[in-house]
Amino acid sequence: MESPILTKSGEERHVLWQSSDLVEHDGIVGTISFGIDLTRSRQAEEARSRLADELARKNQELHNFLYAASHDLRAPLVNIQGFGMMLEEAGNELAAQMTLPDMPVALRERVMPMITGDIPKALGFIRAGLAKMDLLISGMVRLFRLGQVDLQPETIDMDHLVRQIVAALGFQVQLAGADIEIETLPACQGDLVLVNQVFSNLFDNALKYRDAARPLHIRISGRVQDDDSVYCVADTGLGIASEEQVRIWELFQRLDPAGAVAGEGLGLNLVKRIVERHGGRVWVESEPGQGSRFFVALRKAMNEPTCRDGISES
Ligand code: ADP
Repeated sequence: MESPILTKSGEERHVLWQSSDLVEHDGIVGTISFGIDLTRSRQAEEARSRLADELARKNQELHNFLYAASHDLRAPLVNIQGFGMMLEEAGNELAAQMTLPDMPVALRERVMPMITGDIPKALGFIRAGLAKMDLLISGMVRLFRLGQVDLQPETIDMDHLVRQIVAALGFQVQLAGADIEIETLPACQGDLVLVNQVFSNLFDNALKYRDAARPLHIRISGRVQDDDSVYCVADTGLGIASEEQVRIWELFQRLDPAGAVAGEGLGLNLVKRIVERHGGRVWVESEPGQGSRFFVALRKAMNEPTCRDGISES
C-alpha cells in the first residue's frame, strides 16, 4: 500500500508500506511493517511527465509553424514568380522595340545596356532566390507531412532495400566514381517508405560530400545489438569536424552553404526525425580528411538472431 506521510519537519514523503503478520502457536502476535521511501522516484516521474508534456507542446508548436509557413509562403512566392516572368517578357519586348529603325540611336545606346544587362541580371538573382525559397518551402512541407503520417511498421529486408537505393543512385555513383560495398545486413522493423528515405539521404550525402583528394569508397554494414539492428554507412569523404557534429542535425544547417554542393540543409534533420519517430537512434563519428560513419539503430526484426554481426572496424 502506498501512502503519504508527514515527517517531523512537516515534509510530505511517499512511502510504500509492506506488512507481514507475526504468527506464534497459530495466533497472530504482532505485525511487522516496513516502508520504502518512493519520494525521489515519484518526483522523477513527475519531472519526466512534465518534460514529455513540454516536448509534446513544442512539437505541436513546430507543427503549427510548419503548416502556416509552408502554406502561407507558397502564395506570395507563386505571385513573385509570375510577376518576374511578366517583367522578363516585358524586357524582351522592350529589347525588340529598341532595335526598330525609328528608335533614336542615343536613346537606344542609353537603354540597351539596362535591358540586356542590369535587368536580366537582377531578374536572375530574383529567380535564384525564389528557387532557393521554393526548396526551403518544399522542405517544410516534407517535415510537416512527416509529422502527419502514421507509421506503417513492417519487417524490412535491408539487403534488398539498400541494393534498390544504390541502384536508384546509379548515375550519381558513376559521376562520383564511387566504389560501393554492401555487407550482409540484418533485417529491422520500420516503415519502408521512411526507412528508405533515411538511407537514401545518407547515401546521397556520402556521394555529395566526397573529397576530390582521394577515391570515394562507401560501405554499409550492420549488426544486431540487443533489441536493435545497428547499421553504419561509412564514407571516405570530406569528414566533419567534431565541433560541427551537433549542428549538422539541425534544420537548414549546412557546413558550407556557399559551396558548390547543392542542398537545403534538411536531409539529416529528416533522418533524425524519422529514426526518432521509430524509437531509434542516429549518430555520427567523423574526422575531417578521413571520412564519416553514420550509424542508425532501429528495432531488429522479430526473427533476427542476436549474433548476426556485419559491422567491422575499418
Ligand atoms: P544538405 O545535404 O542539403 O546540405 P543535410 O542535412 O543532409 O543537408 O546535411 C547537413 C550538412 O552536413 C551538409 O550541408 C554537409 O555540410 C554535412 N554533411 C552531411 N553528410 C555528410 C557527409 N557524409 N560527409 C561530410 N559532410 C556531410
